Amino acid sequence: MITPIKALSIKQPWAWAISRRAVTYAGKDVENRTWTTEYRGLLAIHASLTWDRAGGDSDMIWTAWGEYIRTTPDRRTASTTLDRRGAEFPTGAIVAVADLDQIHHSASCVRPAYLGEIHPFGPYKCSPWAVGGDGGMYHWRLANVRLLAEPVACTGRLSLWNLPDDVRDAVVEQLAATAR
Ligand SMILES: [Zn+2]
Repeated sequence: MITPIKALSIKQPWAWAISRRAVTYAGKDVENRTWTTEYRGLLAIHASLTWDRAGGDSDMIWTAWGEYIRTTPDRRTASTTLDRRGAEFPTGAIVAVADLDQIHHSASCVRPAYLGEIHPFGPYKCSPWAVGGDGGMYHWRLANVRLLAEPVACTGRLSLWNLPDDVRDAVVEQLAATAR
């Protein structure tokens, strides 16, 4: 039996910011959720249909965007303004995969040893992307992010869900191609 791949639907531009982690430390390495799961392992990052206006106004997103503009080899292909209609922000598609390797609550936020001691930043130790808020948040740590060259169209769902077989196959195929 083939192991299903779990997926999480995330609004743009946050899904884009996570996918950028594949190529730059300016990418998003923590997903903030009000709920937690026992699941650990491969997690497909699904860009949902909704644009999050707070994301479009986020300093962290703009920092990652600035890094993207600076480092994109062919700047003509990159939008210079952060535009929700830009090619950078596909919706209704799997855009990346990551390893969900740890979840902790913001009240007991810890910095994973493998990140080393760089310098304190932001209100939380694990990532500048981590937030708290009323009642706190669970910080889902995403490691080893891999960007899919071609987003795989897929309908999103709530909570954690399994990729449909055809989507899983298309994702696995791309991962195998980039691993070669
Ligand atoms: Zn944390």
